[in-house]
Amino acid sequence: MPDPILATLKSLEEIGITEIYLQVKEEEKLTKKEDKRALLEELYQKNAQEKKCVLYEGSSGYVFGDGDPNSPILFVGEAPGEEEDRQKKPFVGRAGQYLNAKLQEVGLRREEVYITNVVKSRPPGNRKPTKEEMASCVPYLLKEIQIIKPKLIVCLGSTALEGLLGKSLPITKYRGQVLDYPYDRNIKLLLTYHPAYILRNPSAEREFVEDLKKARDLLKLANE
Ligand code: URA
Repeated sequence: MPDPILATLKSLEEIGITEIYLQVKEEEKLTKKEDKRALLEELYQKNAQEKKCVLYEGSSGYVFGDGDPNSPILFVGEAPGEEEDRQKKPFVGRAGQYLNAKLQEVGLRREEVYITNVVKSRPPGNRKPTKEEMASCVPYLLKEIQIIKPKLIVCLGSTALEGLLGKSLPITKYRGQVLDYPYDRNIKLLLTYHPAYILRNPSAEREFVEDLKKARDLLKLANE
């Protein structure tokens, strides 16, 4: 019988991913619907106390995830920007408003999905987080995913995927593709553009909306 773990590793190897983070499996924690919010709150408090996300020092504090933790779809962005830092909520600035509008266009409401970032505090001057900064925050992201157990993770931009898999893939080649999430074979990954990229490059909007429709349709299928 084919080993599903080997098959997942092989499919990652084919796209050049040869190393993944080692996630030590904690004793299976309860993830009943009503418990997810409490578990996330606990995780966020731990994150805030431990201050291991190295960008914390230079920011005004952490910005954690937001939305419905029982949603089968999780969006992962790069890092909070200025407005997110002010409101302490992900994707509430210009890129977030654009994302909300496009979600609505394909029949998804922002409140019915969950949204978080790889890095939990704003990098100075909104620069891209470094590999070390991402690696210091990824353990929390992996735990967030373990608690939410979405069916689909939509990576908004290649930095989000790089944060998750430790390897950057060319977005123009891999956008719209569905990949395996190496830590849980019930979860799929979909790579698409970051909404801020579309604001700068409106000609990519059609593909972005196509990807959001794909996410919506995958969910419909998963729920049937
Ligand atoms: N860009 C991101 O990647 N995340 C946010 O929360 C806002 C903008």
